[in-house]
Amino acid sequence: MYINGQWIKTDKQLAVTNPATGEVVDYVDLVGSKETEEAIQAAEAAFPAWTALTADRRAAYLEAIVDKLKEKKEHLAQVITKEMGKSIHNARNEVNGAIAFFKWYAEEARRVYGETIPASAPNKRITVIHQPVGVVAAITPWNFPLSMTARKLGPALAVGCTVIIKPSSEAPLSSVELFKIFDEVGIPKGVVNLTIGKSSEIGDVLMQSKVVRKVSFTGSTEVGKILIRQSADTVKKVSMELGGHAPFIVFEDADLDLALNGVVSSKFASTGQQCICANRVYVHDSIYDEFAKRFLEKVEQLKVGNGLDESNQIGSMANKSGIEKVEEQVADALEKGAKVLHGGHRLTEGDFADGYFYSPTLLADVTDDMKICFEETFGPVAPLIRFTSEEEVIQKANNIEYGLAAYFYTNDVSRVYRVSEKLEYGMVGANDSSPFTVQAPFGGVKESGLGREGGFYGLDDYLETKLVSVGIKL
Ligand code: NAP
Repeated sequence: MYINGQWIKTDKQLAVTNPATGEVVDYVDLVGSKETEEAIQAAEAAFPAWTALTADRRAAYLEAIVDKLKEKKEHLAQVITKEMGKSIHNARNEVNGAIAFFKWYAEEARRVYGETIPASAPNKRITVIHQPVGVVAAITPWNFPLSMTARKLGPALAVGCTVIIKPSSEAPLSSVELFKIFDEVGIPKGVVNLTIGKSSEIGDVLMQSKVVRKVSFTGSTEVGKILIRQSADTVKKVSMELGGHAPFIVFEDADLDLALNGVVSSKFASTGQQCICANRVYVHDSIYDEFAKRFLEKVEQLKVGNGLDESNQIGSMANKSGIEKVEEQVADALEKGAKVLHGGHRLTEGDFADGYFYSPTLLADVTDDMKICFEETFGPVAPLIRFTSEEEVIQKANNIEYGLAAYFYTNDVSRVYRVSEKLEYGMVGANDSSPFTVQAPFGGVKESGLGREGGFYGLDDYLETKLVSVGIKL
């Protein structure tokens, strides 16, 4: 653990295992409420000096972090793959994402502009300034253990906040590596603090603290709701990046090559364990059979195995509960009439014996009553659902409590605008399966979240807006 600029040893250790092999990758020290209190005090003490630095000075620290991340890129990718199983190709992309976030916010740190507003009295001048919220608690998931941390720490540090971060205890090693970098570049003590341990214990202390003014969370909707309730007692600002259940719609006039490449990357990257993964694939009745045939050809070619092996495109799933949920959803779909076109089972023989491997799966004839259509899947299973009209598919796509990402493919420009405006989602990709980029807002509506990360929108969540009205002599 890293608290107030020191690495802390405790008497409790956690073994982090590689989900592809069951082997222990490394151990981390676990902390509890006492150390979390110390981390909060350290962040509070460090805040005045950190926030008083010029934006240029803070940007220089972020630029130094970028240089170190680039230097250690391959090592970091290996750590991600070993601790949570995704393919090394996906892990390298994740490190690139983390670099991009720190780089963008190093630049954006200098652009926290204020405003002046015309007053209604001649002897008044109205100014609006933006100031850092103060001490921030950031809680992150295992599926993007490095980039989710970067997406929060980049803007928080850029605007002058100090931070306590609690990564998932399933994949804490990427955060430990990031904190080694913070230490190497000499981030002042107390500005960044790392606590790993029992989530409810650390979470309760962070949420009850009056010093912590903001909580930024990425994880499940279920835990997000707990944190929103807990934040009420101290009226903290909250940002919530929660679960998703993305519809992927292929209209009858779509470019099928584009749509097929899009659906494969959206569904199977990170072994299907992304909040923005295609979760329901709606295909127009008139092209359904051809699409299914060509999708199957692509799925058959996907190579599964230990993520560290360069030749594998799909790594292991991250944990036992994840693979069991996938098994349960597939069993439920088959019981209710779906057909397996490919996969539909766990891989357990030979090299797969000690890991959480699930065959890339394509299901046909999926219907709305199957769990896979309304529960987040978080695994490499693509369900195909037929539709016949634009109106019907929009209604189906929106008929869910999630609202994170949605995708659709069409060559009709009017439909591009019509459908984009009607989809109740925070992010829409039209003929684009990967609209996510550092300079754009990322986030969901409905039960997928509150607030936006990324771009200049990502700074807002770490800033308070202050009115300064000055009376002057004329
Ligand atoms: P999770 O179970 O909600 O856990 C997320 C984080 O919250 C972990 O650090 C976890 O710690 C911690 N946590 C759990 N219970 C807590 C509590 N009572 N108080 C405080 N912290 C608590 O989610 P996950 O399984 O790690 O991640 C998968 C979920 O994240 C999916 O639903 C996915 O859609 C979502 N996600 C959303 C986005 C987005 O940007 N919208 C991005 C990525 C992932 P422990 O692991 O130590 O228990």
